Amino acid sequence: QKFVYDFTEGNKELKDLLGGKGANLAEMTNLGLPVPPGFTITTEACKVYLDSGEEPAALRDEVSAHLDALEQRMGKKLGQADDPLLVSVRSGAKFSMPGMMDTVLNIGLSDASVEGLARQAGDERFAWDSYRRLIQMFGKTVLGVDGELFEDALEAAKEAKKVTVDTDLDAADLRKLVKQFKKTVTSETGRDFPQDPREQMDLAVKAVFDSWNGDRAKLYRRQERIPHDLGTAVNICSMVFGNLGPDSGTGVAFTRDPASGHQGVYGDYLQNAQGEDVVAGIRNTVPLADLESIDNKSYDQLMQIMERLETHYKDLCDIEFTIERGRLWMLQTRVGKRTAGAAFRIATQLVDQGLIDEAEALQRVTGAQLAQLMFPRFDETARVERLGRGIAASPGAAVGKAVFDSYTAVKWSRSGERVILIRRETNPDDLDGMIAAEGILTSRGGKTSHAAVVARGMGKTCVCGAEELEVDTKRRRMTVSGTVVEEGDVVSIDGSTGKVYLGEVPVVPSPVVEYFEGRMHAGADDADELVRAVHRIMAYADRMRRLRVRANADNAEDALRARRFGAQGIGLCRTEHMFLGERRGMVEKLILADTDAEREEALKALLPLQKRDFVELFEAMDGLPVTVRLLDPPLHEFLPDITELSVRVALAEARKDANENDLRLLQAVHRLHEQNPMLGLRGVRLGLVIPGLFTMQVRAIAEAAAERRDGKGDPRAEIMIPLVGTVQELEIVREEAEQVIAEVEAATGVELRLALGTMIELPRAALTAGQIAEAAEFFSFGTNDLTQTVWGFSRDDVEASFFTAYLEKGIFGVSPFETIDKDGVGSLVRNAVAAGRATRPDLKLGVCGEHGGDPESVHFFHEAGLDYVSCSPFRIPVARLEAGRAAA
Ligand code: ADP
Ligand code: MG
Ligand code: MG
Repeated sequence: QKFVYDFTEGNKELKDLLGGKGANLAEMTNLGLPVPPGFTITTEACKVYLDSGEEPAALRDEVSAHLDALEQRMGKKLGQADDPLLVSVRSGAKFSMPGMMDTVLNIGLSDASVEGLARQAGDERFAWDSYRRLIQMFGKTVLGVDGELFEDALEAAKEAKKVTVDTDLDAADLRKLVKQFKKTVTSETGRDFPQDPREQMDLAVKAVFDSWNGDRAKLYRRQERIPHDLGTAVNICSMVFGNLGPDSGTGVAFTRDPASGHQGVYGDYLQNAQGEDVVAGIRNTVPLADLESIDNKSYDQLMQIMERLETHYKDLCDIEFTIERGRLWMLQTRVGKRTAGAAFRIATQLVDQGLIDEAEALQRVTGAQLAQLMFPRFDETARVERLGRGIAASPGAAVGKAVFDSYTAVKWSRSGERVILIRRETNPDDLDGMIAAEGILTSRGGKTSHAAVVARGMGKTCVCGAEELEVDTKRRRMTVSGTVVEEGDVVSIDGSTGKVYLGEVPVVPSPVVEYFEGRMHAGADDADELVRAVHRIMAYADRMRRLRVRANADNAEDALRARRFGAQGIGLCRTEHMFLGERRGMVEKLILADTDAEREEALKALLPLQKRDFVELFEAMDGLPVTVRLLDPPLHEFLPDITELSVRVALAEARKDANENDLRLLQAVHRLHEQNPMLGLRGVRLGLVIPGLFTMQVRAIAEAAAERRDGKGDPRAEIMIPLVGTVQELEIVREEAEQVIAEVEAATGVELRLALGTMIELPRAALTAGQIAEAAEFFSFGTNDLTQTVWGFSRDDVEASFFTAYLEKGIFGVSPFETIDKDGVGSLVRNAVAAGRATRPDLKLGVCGEHGGDPESVHFFHEAGLDYVSCSPFRIPVARLEAGRAAA
């Protein structure tokens, strides 16, 4: 096994082995770009070290061989006293990761070689500047000395000389500083700064390996769901110097604007500096465009290289470069991060440039980015005081009065106020307040904190871990760097950026939603550039995808919006919503009915109302399938709350004017009360024990369809039976339904062709799907209930209780209610698909749980071979895009 690769040996595909930085340094080297020679120690070597605590036996010799070759090529030895070869030791994992050890520059300098370097460069100041940087970086990152000790000393040296920038310190000053730094190392670590160059290098390599398991790195990986066993590579790169005077410098650049996607010159440059100075903001950088006049030749060369990189990577790249005495060197490149909007624009721009095709363009954007673009946003032109910034935990733009406890949140929101709940961190007791609030702001905790998880689950805006905020719950206020925000003061939080403002920031609707709603046309002259890009990408996705996308919608209004958003039908129409509101009284009558006659009368009253709902719905979705689910929830949901009713009856009895109906209601409530309603009398079980209920619903559907057909409409109703566990249940309901349909057909003279199918949402249904398919023309996977019943936990109870702990301990990467659990729930889905199709090859298969609009889950359903996914209207564009991406 080979543990070390020269830059000439690797390429950009080898990110697993060489890390992102190493793979791209190799790629640039092989493109013939000016990269300082060097080599990469693989992630495999790191893994051996992390597993066993020791570097692989062969590593030392391999590194020696590569170092020898490098020394020969450069004509000098590492740390050689009269003319030292210097190198940087740079970490570089597959994914760039904050919290890992950074880079140590100038390795190879020592008390002896610093003099040699000064003579060779003819610049004493430069040599001592490089040496003090080495001790500073090495001391901090490899030896673990508190970095402030060095920074304070540097500040003191500048103060003593009454200068403000480091370049004003001369060789003598820096020489003194080095002495002081070395003393600090000795007193802080109990050992001297190592003078042996190879020892410096080896210690730095080990420190990079160890930094993989640093606390911050581990935390970051958990949050970003990066596996913990990848390890990091280490790059050894010969030094080039940007701190050799005014004809030297260092910079960063993008091949196009990462915010807008526009092509142009974007970057920063800093004269007479080494790489880390640019990011650290030690001195003010100049715009990259200024390099044109500073060093015209290097500027032209850089522009050419950037164009070359962009055509080669076929994407936006960011780069790091250094100019040493008028000579340009490339130190890093990678495909650059970008905003969601820029991702869409860049993808279409690259198609126009002929660099990528439509399928590839779909890989350059994500459903999550599209979702981000659909949230309303704060008007960026508004002038409002920014208070601070936390972690963008759940997107959206929320404005409201600051409240510091849940009780107040609930109270104020009941009286019509919009509130932002501000807590140090939240816990399950805050749930009511979180529901009542427009948004949630915490000063502690990361992306997997209670606040973040629950807010995302509820689709509520949340900024968490805003550490600058000092939240004082007792005094009902928070302080942010001197500004005091009292209860009742208005604050605005941006869950997409993490920014927190004092006062009300105006909210503007997303242009992307305006487009989907049909209020903005992509073809219009003044159409937003972003809207045009989204329009084109959606067209690519629609051409590419195999999965159809339907909506979960219960009424005509939602159905029409879903249609505008591109829905190809309704995958789930919940009929329980048709039993609420003013119809409650009728439903109560049905539940309280003592005799068949009473019951029939109650059902008869409901029939025309249901029918009217369906007529409207079929009209809104004319020509497209509409899956209607018969009544599913436990009946007590339609009755008054047990406690409230008990109190009312007790009070009335005390006054001796108890109402007969209330007494009967209370009896019914007691009779229907269940310990576990989720597992109780609901779904098909209702249809089997309440005579006439399901047949009334079927009749309403059938008559509505007949009426639409008569009026020359094209209704395509599908009747869906929920919570089936065995084929016998389905057969009984089916037989009754068919009889009703036949009656309606006979009465109206219209042939209805209504499909009858079932939900697969219980493990037993999934396990016996082969039998169930004999009585079902379609399956719709109810992945919410299936997840609950497969895992044995109820979503309403557990998300706020133990999920945070599970996420923190890494048992879940993400809630199984958000992204389908492929191994467990998913394997039942796959089996049911196979068994169902074996029985009935033309079985239609869909999914109607929340997962239908979740990007990762959509890819799973594509692979599982479903025909469609169904999701809430707002998720439809995301589902269309992800279905396209899955097929591309
Ligand atoms: P990071 O991942 O934090 O950017 P890098 O390894 O890229 O870490 O290095 C930090 C800085 O040091 C960058 O600006 C880089 O360009 C610069 N740098 C790294 N290696 C060298 C080198 N061999 N010569 C000159 N500058 C270097
Ligand atoms: Mg870098
Ligand atoms: Mg269900």
